[in-house]
Amino acid sequence: MKLFDVYPLYNVTPVKAEGCYVWDDQNEKYLDLYGGHAVISIGHTHPHFKAALEEQLSNIAFYSNAIQNPLQQELSDKLGALSGCGDDFELFLCSTGAEANENAIKVASFYNKKSRVIAFKNGFHGRTSAAVSVTDNKKIIAPVNAHNPVTILPLNDSEAVRKEIEKGDVTAVIVEPIQGVGGLDEPTTEFLKEIRKITEENNVCLILDEVQTGFGRSGKFFAHQYHGIKADIIPMAKGMGNGFPIGGVLISKHIESWHGMLGTTFGGSHLACAAGIAVLDVIRKENLMDNVVEISEYFKKEVANLPGVKKVKGKGLMLGLEFDFEVGDLRKKLIYDEKIFTGGAMNKKLLRILPPLNVTQQDIDLFVQALKKIV
Ligand code: PLP
Repeated sequence: MKLFDVYPLYNVTPVKAEGCYVWDDQNEKYLDLYGGHAVISIGHTHPHFKAALEEQLSNIAFYSNAIQNPLQQELSDKLGALSGCGDDFELFLCSTGAEANENAIKVASFYNKKSRVIAFKNGFHGRTSAAVSVTDNKKIIAPVNAHNPVTILPLNDSEAVRKEIEKGDVTAVIVEPIQGVGGLDEPTTEFLKEIRKITEENNVCLILDEVQTGFGRSGKFFAHQYHGIKADIIPMAKGMGNGFPIGGVLISKHIESWHGMLGTTFGGSHLACAAGIAVLDVIRKENLMDNVVEISEYFKKEVANLPGVKKVKGKGLMLGLEFDFEVGDLRKKLIYDEKIFTGGAMNKKLLRILPPLNVTQQDIDLFVQALKKIV
């Protein structure tokens, strides 16, 4: 049976990985500066992660959300402590980023009984119904998803947000603290503070989509923590399981839950919780957020004066290099000739760098040398 052909693929077949490196079926070694779409947070096959999953697998891998599962509370407590959100939020567990956003939007709508969502130009929030409808890419919105009431506004235009909210039918504003797929543009602190004020005054939920930016990738646990604002709802996923599918939604305590409000078969399984707990333990014990800040500064300094580089965008290890040419060929040369994985974006001139959070200066040096050679 053929696979449904939706992905353009590079001709590389990884079979083994460790830390920031991946080996293919010819035993060629690659530097992974992409982390499989920002997913690998604590490094491939981290020994603590492996041991935790192996142990859990030999005890119990899964049971449904109809029984007690103390691992969920352990995960929630550790997440609350490391993120600093423990006193103000509660956690709902699911399996993917789109599912986290889907539930975030539902929670908002259940809460204030409104339905229109405000989202932003170049935003990406996933491919399921509500999540794709708030994504600014018409190509991936199927007719069945096109009827959700959504208004896409320019990023950083708080007056436009105010005008829409004052119409009275808006349930939520959803925004990425750093745009990922769109190309590393960021809302300003002033804009975020202003929309926080407008949403609060009008009982509209502010959803900060931390699916890609969360779990230390920006150098803080959540990227919106750079701006001194508090969200109502925080969806998260990618780095949360270091490759094991797990997502979650932090929901502010003023939003009440009721039995049956949300649900999932797979979310919060024993194995998923073991993965999530192992990731949090390693981020804390290995001070990975400090490493993110340090390596980010080093990276920015090293690439600043490279030929062709117009701009370095992003925070922490969610970085973008904007060139004065389209980067498709450059990415091919990096992967096939230099054996380095990097990412692309909707902005065709942007090279995305999303390495594991324990990447080293020596790894960055390899990338800089490769870029010098090619560009
Ligand atoms: N939200 C953001 C900001 C993302 O970057 C992504 C994926 O790239 C998603 C949501 C969707 O996550 P998933 O692919 O796990 O459904």
